[in-house]
Amino acid sequence: MTSHDAVPDLAGLHPRLPSPLEEFTDDRFTRRGLRLLLKRDDLIHPELIGNKWRKLAPNLSAAGRRMVVTFGGAYSNHLRATAAAGRLLGLRTVGVVRGQELAERPLNASLARCAADGMRLHFVDRSTYRRKTEPETLAGILRGIDAEDAYVVPEGGSNASAVRGCSALGAELRGRADVVAVACGTGGTLAGLAAGLDPGQWALGVPVLKGGFLGADVRDLQSEAFGGPRGDWWLDERFHFGGYARTTHELDAFAADFEERHGLGVERLYVAKLLYGVVALTEEGAFPRGTVVAAVVTGAPFDG
Ligand SMILES: *Cc1c(COP(=O)(O)O)cnc(C)c1O
Repeated sequence: MTSHDAVPDLAGLHPRLPSPLEEFTDDRFTRRGLRLLLKRDDLIHPELIGNKWRKLAPNLSAAGRRMVVTFGGAYSNHLRATAAAGRLLGLRTVGVVRGQELAERPLNASLARCAADGMRLHFVDRSTYRRKTEPETLAGILRGIDAEDAYVVPEGGSNASAVRGCSALGAELRGRADVVAVACGTGGTLAGLAAGLDPGQWALGVPVLKGGFLGADVRDLQSEAFGGPRGDWWLDERFHFGGYARTTHELDAFAADFEERHGLGVERLYVAKLLYGVVALTEEGAFPRGTVVAAVVTGAPFDG
């Protein structure tokens, strides 16, 4: 990459788009007359995985050669994807990390990967982190890291550009499924997915955080991105297993069994909860016979 390039060369990274759509035979679906498809966004790019590609690509184009500042927790898939993008595209990146105390300890594997990819890590205390979208707090953070001219990507990468980027996920699934299910953190992927589907197709969001605030967030993201509500979607808030990064023996056993049945690594923070929710809904009889259910594989396991 030469210094006169105005925008990062994303096409040069050869993303696999549209991502593959694969049918899996699973008796929990077939015995109810349903078909299960997996939308393999995990195969878009080995390092800019899944919805992180779809959300980051439009933002990196907008950033040009500016430094990119973004936000995340200690195990954030979004921070790792941003750091990898920085290395691959020759962009300077800063990750603002929740938790001042993390600065005192050896980096965990996820943050160590970010640092190895050249991301500068800046740790802030939890109360500052919570207020990071307030203009004064944000300006203070940027001043503190000498990044006043930086391009800022919000936590989880979800802004209007990102949501519009995710509408391509819906467009790729037009005519291919009746229900498309996706795991939700910020809800940006669901907001875009629902907007991209055809009328009559439904998007189902499975939040991995406990809280009950996500419906309002998805509506807000759609109005920022599209000027109003788009598409048909609903949330099932029963499958967070206690909250972000929380798990139970039952969820771990479910994910390990799914991996064994289908020979596919199941990412644990999001994808495991999504698949658990889709199977649970199937077993409750939530989908009529003949329904084609597509689950979006938004990520891949991180092995440190
Ligand atoms: C970030 C992430 C999500 C959540 O996406 P949102 O747009 O924030 O809802 C889902 N799955 C995986 C694997 C992720 O890394």
